[in-house]
Amino acid sequence: MPEPLIELNAVNKWFGSLHVLRDVNLTVDRGEVVVVIGPSGSGKSTLCRAINRLETINSGTIIFDGKPLPEEGKQLARLRSEVGMVFQSFNLFSHLTILENVTLGPIKVRRESKAVAKERAMKLLDRVGIGNQADKHPGQLSGGQQQRAAIARALAMQPKAMLFDEPTSALDPEMVGEVLDVMTSLAVEGMTMIVVTHEMGFARHAAKRVVFMADGELVEQAPPAEFFDNPRSERARDFLSKVL
Ligand code: ADP
Ligand code: MG
Repeated sequence: MPEPLIELNAVNKWFGSLHVLRDVNLTVDRGEVVVVIGPSGSGKSTLCRAINRLETINSGTIIFDGKPLPEEGKQLARLRSEVGMVFQSFNLFSHLTILENVTLGPIKVRRESKAVAKERAMKLLDRVGIGNQADKHPGQLSGGQQQRAAIARALAMQPKAMLFDEPTSALDPEMVGEVLDVMTSLAVEGMTMIVVTHEMGFARHAAKRVVFMADGELVEQAPPAEFFDNPRSERARDFLSKVL
C-alpha cells in the first residue's frame, strides 16, 4: 500500500450557517492525479484552500505528507511551499518580470541564491514553453502564457503536490489547450495533483480518479472511464447531462 500524500478525514467546514464541506474523506496517493468536478458552489475551491490551509476547518483532520496541517508560523510557510497552488486568476505580480515572479519565492522563502533560483526558473519557463518571455511583464503576455508562468512559479518552490483550481476557466478557448498540455506532462512525470476543472477531456485522459462533489459532499469517486460511462448517483448523472 502506498502511503497517501494527502489525507482528509471527516472534514467539516462552515461559513456561518452554510455547511460547505460535509464529512469529506479523501486520500490522494503520491503521484496520483485526482480531478474534482461538481456544480458551482459545491465546495471545490474551499476543499483546495483547506488543503493549503488558506482556510481553516471546523472539524476533522487533514494530513499532508504524514503530518497534520500546521496552525501557523514556520511550519505553515513550509507547508505552503510544499503545496503549489494555481488559481483561475493567475495572481502574478504585475510590477515584476516573469522571471522575477518565478524566482521571488525561492529567494525569499527558500533562501536560494539569485543565481540558483534564476537557473531553475529559466529551466521551468523553458519547460512550460515561455523561456523567451522571461524579461517581460505579465501584462505583455497572453492569458495562456501568464497561466503557464504561474505554473512555473509554483513549480519553482519544488512542491510535493500541486493544486489547480479551475486553471483554464478564465482563458480564451484557444489558450486552454496549451495550459492543459503543461498539466498533462506534469501528471505523466508523476506529480501528485488535485485539479478542479470543467475540462472533461482532461479528466478522462489525465486523471487516475474523478471525485464528484455536490453541496459540500463528496458524492462519488471512481476512475474516469467508470465515472463518465456509468455515474452511480442521480446528482452526478444530472451534472454530466449538463456539461457533456
Ligand atoms: P466551488 O469552488 O465549488 O464553486 P466554493 O468552495 O467556492 O465552491 O464555495 C462553496 C460555498 O461556500 C458557496 O456557497 C460559496 O458562496 C460559499 N463561500 C465560499 N467562500 C466563502 C467565504 N469566504 N465566506 C462565506 N461563504 C463562502
Ligand atoms: Mg471554485
